[in-house]
Amino acid sequence: METSMIFSKLVSFVLILQLLNPIVVLSSSSSLSSSNGLTEIPKKFLDFAKRKEVVDWMVGIRRKIHENPELGYEEFETSKLIRLELDKLGIPYKYPVSVTGIVGFVGTGEPPFVAIRADMDALAIQETVDWEHKSKNPGKMHACGHDAHVSMVLGAAKILKQHLQELKGTVVLVFQPAEEGGGGAKKMLDAGVLDNIDAIFGLHVLHSAPIGTVASKPGPLLAGSGLFDAVISGKGGHAAIPQHSIDPILAASNVVVSLQHLVSREADPLDSQVVTVAKFQGGGAFNVIPDSVTIGGTFRAFSKASLIQLKKRIEEVIKGQAAVQRCSATVDFSNTKKPMLLFPPTVNDKDLHEHFLKVAGDMLGNDKVKDMKPVMGSEDFAFYQEAFPGYFFFIGMQDENSPKLSSVHTPNFTINEDILPYGAALHASLATTYLLEAESKLRPTGGNLHDEL
Ligand SMILES: [Zn+2]
Ligand SMILES: [Zn+2]
Repeated sequence: METSMIFSKLVSFVLILQLLNPIVVLSSSSSLSSSNGLTEIPKKFLDFAKRKEVVDWMVGIRRKIHENPELGYEEFETSKLIRLELDKLGIPYKYPVSVTGIVGFVGTGEPPFVAIRADMDALAIQETVDWEHKSKNPGKMHACGHDAHVSMVLGAAKILKQHLQELKGTVVLVFQPAEEGGGGAKKMLDAGVLDNIDAIFGLHVLHSAPIGTVASKPGPLLAGSGLFDAVISGKGGHAAIPQHSIDPILAASNVVVSLQHLVSREADPLDSQVVTVAKFQGGGAFNVIPDSVTIGGTFRAFSKASLIQLKKRIEEVIKGQAAVQRCSATVDFSNTKKPMLLFPPTVNDKDLHEHFLKVAGDMLGNDKVKDMKPVMGSEDFAFYQEAFPGYFFFIGMQDENSPKLSSVHTPNFTINEDILPYGAALHASLATTYLLEAESKLRPTGGNLHDEL
């Protein structure tokens, strides 16, 4: 997740309302459970994932990755470790995809194709947690839990490999680089190796929710985002003789105020949006009017249309408001750290939401599957969801008997490693039952539909 995400403040859970159409659920689950054991799979997979040897293996992988955190598009050792484990499991894969990415395949090799995704990158943070497996790379840390995400998808791969006979299609394992602002998901798509995916699932650890619970929602879950940098140029001079200068400090100040009108006066109050100016740099002396001021910030919205509208108006307001004060302005919506112009909102497919409710409910109990309010943070998983149906959810980590865990993107962030089997089993169950459901939808009507694949 991105830096600006503050889980503890923004995330709140309410008991889920049973929105499922009971008739549809009952009819589908009864026919499938009798023929495929669909409802037993999640619990069976969780039991397997909780075996001591499986847990120890996942914990070992997670700790190794944690000790050697690598930033976006530099995940070479992490990628190597994943490939070694895939080799040991006898799982074929494509590599390299988008520098360090890996795409593995478990199952029949035939359609349908359902993907599960892990992000591999760390953050430029100095770890302050003193423990045996502390980051050995100064200034770098797995402070967003992507080490756990990798371990969970590898855990899922192990479960799937052990239950190959239950796979009615192919599970695609997606290990992507550079989630933290690098748009690794977009690059994986651009590489053309995910063209036939029917659905994709992704998860994120959540420090503030109890272990054994999961949370998500249908439709928009996380905001789309963009960033801007602007240079407002005037004419420098002596601060005591302003009539001989064109003051960019005053112009930029008015720009900041005017930008606040975009959300408060132009956006639909029911369509949540954010425009924040987080950077304001100009001047270096109390008695000198500078030549220029640089400002920068982020904007967020839950639809692409709103994002595009904000982007257009941010540019117009900065240039127009600067001109009012006789300044000129340039506006840039990309930078080297974040080459993509706009990150789309994370929008969960409604059918996959129902699938998630059922699978997670079967594994954890329906009361452990929580509804979640949308959050203004963003995730590059959204790029996959633009290409095919996708579903993103959060998995709780807090043990009620332990001290409160720290938020992601903080130097004292820790993972409760007890969640690893949950994440692995959820990935494996969501994928396996998705394939079984897809098969059962085709099978009963006469057998000719297989030709459509
Ligand atoms: Zn993050
Ligand atoms: Zn993250």
